[in-house]
Amino acid sequence: MDARAENAPDDEEAPETAPAAPPSTPMMAQYLEIKAANPDCLLFYRMGDFYEMFFGDAEIASRALGIALTRRGKHQGADIPMCGVPIHAADQYLQKLIALGHRVAVCEQVEDPTQARKRGAKSVVRRDVIRLVTAGTLTEEALLDGRRNNYLAAVARQRGGGEGDAFAVAWVDISTGEFRVAASAASRLAADLARIEPREVIVADGLFADAALMPLWRGMGATVTPLSAAFFDGGTAADRLAAYFGVATVDGFGSFSRVELAAAGAVLAYVEKTQIRERPRLSPLAGEASGEAMQIDAATRANLELTQTLSGSREGSLAAAIDRTVTGAGARLFARRLAGPSTDPAVSGARLDAIAWLLGDRSRRDGIRADLKAAPDLARALSRLTLDRGGPRDLAAISGGLAAAVAIAARIGTAPDVPAEVAAAVAALSATPVELVAEIEAALADELPLLKRDGGFVREGYRAGLDEARRLRDESRRVIASLQARYAADTAVRTLRVKHNNVLGYFIEVGSAAAPPLFQPPLNATFIHRQTLASAVRFTTTELAGLEAKIAGAGERALAVELEVFATLVQQIGATADLIRGVADALAVIDVAAALALLAETENYARPTVDRSLSFKIVDGRHPVVEQALRAANGNAFVANSSDLGPARDGAAGAIWLVTGPNMAGKSTFLRQNALIAVMAQMGSYVPAREATIGVVDRLFSRVGAADDLARGRSTFMVEMVETAAILNQAGPRALVILDEIGRGTATFDGLSIAWAAIEHLHEVNKSRALFATHYHELTALSARLPRLTNVTVRVKEWKGDVIFLHEIVPGSADRSYGIQVARLAGLPTAVVARARAVLRQLEESDRKTPVHALIDDLPLFSAAMNAAPAADPLREALAALKPDEMSPKEALEALYKLRALIDKTA
Ligand code: ADP
Ligand code: MG
Repeated sequence: MDARAENAPDDEEAPETAPAAPPSTPMMAQYLEIKAANPDCLLFYRMGDFYEMFFGDAEIASRALGIALTRRGKHQGADIPMCGVPIHAADQYLQKLIALGHRVAVCEQVEDPTQARKRGAKSVVRRDVIRLVTAGTLTEEALLDGRRNNYLAAVARQRGGGEGDAFAVAWVDISTGEFRVAASAASRLAADLARIEPREVIVADGLFADAALMPLWRGMGATVTPLSAAFFDGGTAADRLAAYFGVATVDGFGSFSRVELAAAGAVLAYVEKTQIRERPRLSPLAGEASGEAMQIDAATRANLELTQTLSGSREGSLAAAIDRTVTGAGARLFARRLAGPSTDPAVSGARLDAIAWLLGDRSRRDGIRADLKAAPDLARALSRLTLDRGGPRDLAAISGGLAAAVAIAARIGTAPDVPAEVAAAVAALSATPVELVAEIEAALADELPLLKRDGGFVREGYRAGLDEARRLRDESRRVIASLQARYAADTAVRTLRVKHNNVLGYFIEVGSAAAPPLFQPPLNATFIHRQTLASAVRFTTTELAGLEAKIAGAGERALAVELEVFATLVQQIGATADLIRGVADALAVIDVAAALALLAETENYARPTVDRSLSFKIVDGRHPVVEQALRAANGNAFVANSSDLGPARDGAAGAIWLVTGPNMAGKSTFLRQNALIAVMAQMGSYVPAREATIGVVDRLFSRVGAADDLARGRSTFMVEMVETAAILNQAGPRALVILDEIGRGTATFDGLSIAWAAIEHLHEVNKSRALFATHYHELTALSARLPRLTNVTVRVKEWKGDVIFLHEIVPGSADRSYGIQVARLAGLPTAVVARARAVLRQLEESDRKTPVHALIDDLPLFSAAMNAAPAADPLREALAALKPDEMSPKEALEALYKLRALIDKTA
């Protein structure tokens, strides 16, 4: 309350002083008008040093932020609810609101209050929304995670005729300037979005409402914002792009389909809508060929715990185990490569070359990493500066980052045999605008304030006029400080204080009891009354006012010089922005290569071979996360295991390994380590194995039976089947399929039958390389019929009725599941264990194996049924292609005639 009184709004007319009677004051009228233009946002309405919220916004925000809800003034006879956040802490409140899925419109005073006063005592300071803050359009350091990209993605759809709908995704990180687009399709849209992992997705209203896509939007874990179709207009998108980048045509960026342009255009339209007057400086739109990255859908990412564990923590994920980068930009690049491993062996190979080179030269690598550790985030500082949101520390980040680039270039400069990726990075580093570094370093003081308006960031001696103004200001301040003693002596009031606030400026304050003499001669000749409070009276003097004017004048002059210096530097930075961005990207590349080299060395990883074959041969592979966890927990070594899923001969398809073995033997670990090694190899990393040859995997699937997915409200078995269906419908010969205990979520025979049929389908139809773990050892009988199916099992030793897990994969099949032994280990009461043994013996004597043998003999029927494609039905197809909502009555009638004609034709 007091803080607020001290910082009273610059307006004459604040709600607290607003008269209660008339329906709304001019300020309320202004507020309501601005609010009406931004109905879907919380409105942060600037008043003095606060952002205030009113009405429903105030109620929502006070609840969300846990701040006091007050009432100020009246509107149409009712109290106006209000709450506010101080400007200096606004970022922290914004972050909370954004995280809760809100959007915030920031409304500032866009003229000086003195200007408003000139229009009349009652006029309101002009205000305008200067920015919409949404999850996907953040740039502030405090609102962002330095090690993650913050993408805004747009999904566009083009209704297709026979070939189905075409999709495209465009995404931008305005905090770094990255801007990309890729074609997509209904079948891979979810995987593409899972790879990009946007914070916010924009889609046209129609697409948002599409029932088929509802689960995708809901399961995204991002804010999904529906927008009018105009944002996605493919016809005007190319012009919008050209206008944004100030080029005559976008042909220079590459060739894009109409739907890709629509997505990219929507991104820009939304950026323009949210940034109002500012235009982030974006890299030219880069097209990504579809299929450039290994397709990994969201469920697979979750299952393999690529970036977070199933319980949602980063600790324990693959990323946490293998990311050793030391810069934010490096971490972001690392995350992008991990999220989308390359399907081009040449790309993976070039990255591996860079690691190999840095692996061999430890002292150079250590030096590079030390330089990188000291390098600030160039890309994000650059983005803030070009958006006019930067501060002095962003200037320092630019010079610091560029200085690190110079140092790193020098470390690599003369080295022999520099591989292509490193050489390209060094070339970019060598283009560092070094004069700029010198200029910024000369201009900036050692200690920097966060905001430029605070001043004090320009180094002494950099501008003569500045030093002069500062001297004047500081001298006057000293005189003011000494005034207190003199006035206290003159008035004989020992408690007299000289104070300052934003409303009164400098003033003299005495307690009420001591005040009367100051109103009397002779003191009243010096002391001029300003304000009477409950317990104190405030005065000023001509001398104090004069000094204050001097300070203000000098302070203003000093700040003006500083802001001019700031603007000049920003302008110089803007002029070399492309070079700086090139440097930033190069530093990230070097950070990732050095980090992966360090990882390979400390973890004893090997260089994989990635090629275009269908091989999948891993010698002594390990699970990168479990290995580290075991070592940390008890120093135990991980038991390495080999795999070979490559085709037996040229031209054949890859193999399926059926892994059986008791619970806790290590089946799931083995399955996952193979998937993780493929991901790592193709992202361009050394791998936890003695040797590895990976024929490029284009799609990776991983499913665990009975995975719990309560959040999406489907039964676990339903989820399991939906996900298994996705694999059986989509996986091809280049895919790698990991199926772990599929069928476990239902009754035994059900589950066994589903697992059985799924393996047959994978073998006969998908022909993917696959690993299938199961506790149904009945399935091992399939190897007799399916030539590319190999049975392997995890070795256990039985010792005095207990099992000992050896975690070793060997050819063959488990004859038993050892469930009872495991139960015993887990501490089941002895009586229960004994009884279970007896029941098991009985069951085994009965004919549990019979149906399996019958199925084996029936197999040819099975495959015949599977290969027969369902008969085509032209009528059904024509019907399915109709879109009733999009047809005019005339089109509908024509369609009806066509359908009728079809019947006549087929009849
Ligand atoms: P399953 O799927 O067969 O039930 P898991 O793969 O979940 O078994 O493994 C159970 C535990 O055994 C793991 O948490 C891990 O601690 C340990 N383990 C698995 N594989 C190995 C291995 N190759 N070397 C050492 N320990 C392992
Ligand atoms: Mg398991």
